[in-house]
Amino acid sequence: MEDDSLHDDVLSQLEALQLTPERPLIVSDADEVIFAFVRGLEAYLLDNGHFMDLKSFAMRGNIRATETGEAVSAEAVKALINGYFAERTEQIEPVDGAAEALAALSERAQILVLSNTPLDCREARRRALVKHGMDYPLVANIGRKGGAMAYLAARQSAPMFFLDDIPHNISSVARAAGSVTRLHFIADHRLRDMLGAAEDADARIDDWPGARQFIEQRLAAEGF
Ligand SMILES: [Mg+2]
Repeated sequence: MEDDSLHDDVLSQLEALQLTPERPLIVSDADEVIFAFVRGLEAYLLDNGHFMDLKSFAMRGNIRATETGEAVSAEAVKALINGYFAERTEQIEPVDGAAEALAALSERAQILVLSNTPLDCREARRRALVKHGMDYPLVANIGRKGGAMAYLAARQSAPMFFLDDIPHNISSVARAAGSVTRLHFIADHRLRDMLGAAEDADARIDDWPGARQFIEQRLAAEGF
């Protein structure tokens, strides 16, 4: 069973949002869409006795100990990624063109960042968004994203868009909120070549000028 349910800690954040149902809504992931997650992680790993050996679109199996060259366990990967978020969330660099494209899109749509940022790093991520000219609301999601998108879709009448790098999030949104237009977006040039378009995506676009153009054309076609 795929779990597209909505966590209580996510529901409370969604309930606090002030959205306008008649205005289009663009919901963007953060890591590998707005922020260069993997590039920052590589630097963190090097500072902490590990390195990334990017052989597939996954963290597991690709993080190795510098000393032995051995891939570390799933638990160690998790601990390293948690450490990365705890120490560096605010320092992760934005993806090229993200702020400019979102600023342009915000003239005709609402913007929401829906990111699986650990809850205790939420404020650091908000500060990073503001620092880089992206002062948009942020919801720290837990698990797959279909539940949150279903909540939003039930309250929106204008078109909705969803951007994410991870195919299982796109599939989750397709199942739970099928009316949402889904863009598969992978910022990192190496990672994007390792993965085809997610099967449940409406489009695969890996750069912000392209995503902006796609969304603007869709909105214009629907009279927005
Ligand atoms: Mg992501």
